Amino acid sequence: MGTPVRHFTATTEEGQVFTVNIERDFRYDPYRDFLVCTHCDWSPSLLTTRRLLDMAGEHLASAHGAGRGLGQHDNESFRKARLIMLPVVAVLLIGLLIFLNS
Ligand SMILES: [Zn+2]
Repeated sequence: MGTPVRHFTATTEEGQVFTVNIERDFRYDPYRDFLVCTHCDWSPSLLTTRRLLDMAGEHLASAHGAGRGLGQHDNESFRKARLIMLPVVAVLLIGLLIFLNS
């Protein structure tokens, strides 16, 4: 559905790793984020003031028994795409300024 932009992971007593993704859907304007478990159909409403990390950690612990080492990290390819986009946008802005000043 969406693009995974962030992962929440936790580990069970046996060392098995479970992951919940934040998926970003760019078909909406502004974009919408969804919390999606990669192991079951869990995808809660985000119309809440609770922190995503708390929600993800609670699900991983209660549904999958993964209560250890809860952590989060950005999706690698999405992070790289953002790093590439920044200079491109900067160059475009500078070009526009030069164009407007001339
Ligand atoms: Zn799940």
